[in-house]
Amino acid sequence: MRDNHEDAPPEAILRLALAAWPRRMAVVTSFQAEGMVLLDMAWRIDPAVRVITLDTGRLPQETYEMIDRVRERYGVEAEVFFPDAGAVETLVRGGGPNLFRDSVDARLACCHVRKVEPLRRALAGLDAWVTGLRRGQSPARAGIRQVETDPENGGIVKLNPLADWSWEQVTSYVRRHDVPLHPLYARGYASIGCAPCTRPVRDGEDSRAGRWWWESNGNKECGLHQIYARKAAPVVGVAA
Ligand code: SF4
Repeated sequence: MRDNHEDAPPEAILRLALAAWPRRMAVVTSFQAEGMVLLDMAWRIDPAVRVITLDTGRLPQETYEMIDRVRERYGVEAEVFFPDAGAVETLVRGGGPNLFRDSVDARLACCHVRKVEPLRRALAGLDAWVTGLRRGQSPARAGIRQVETDPENGGIVKLNPLADWSWEQVTSYVRRHDVPLHPLYARGYASIGCAPCTRPVRDGEDSRAGRWWWESNGNKECGLHQIYARKAAPVVGVAA
């Protein structure tokens, strides 16, 4: 899988990746619609597909319920990774439980402890991970490619099979295949993360506007995909 698969259908990318790295590739999802579409596609190709999620300790109850729905619907047990307990203690004792409201730096510190470091552990030993990122989600994501290397996680392959999909394509797939949908979409959320850092969006706002909405100088990235906020995404072939 060394070719550039840009513009390939998502199912084709997943099929190639699942064949290349059957147990060393995972769909990493917070159970938003894009991640559920990819989970559904990958499961149809290989019912033993690995699914990884991060429990930050601040998720909405509805996200935990999605873990149960995935188990019931697909027979897939999501591998849940947690933050380091000592690091959370230090963070909260130093800045309080809601330190993310104090500054962008404090928010990024919280995201680092609760998301970035657990993701690094989750990806250790993998050759590839699959995300539900789309170019249309925000200006910072406009340059993402379907196939990238991930310099922030050991140079493994990062697959964004839905990079060029629209929201309408996502919801159309959800309807066609009766994919379980996170309940918060029905309450006006367009992007769903930690409970205290996510709100519904208003008409005309982009889908990331409900994340850390109090920040005027933030980049709406939590660190998992921070590279898109710093520079244009790198273009590479798949190394495997
Ligand atoms: Fe912390 Fe909010 Fe980031 Fe969740 S989204 S890790 S609560 S700053």
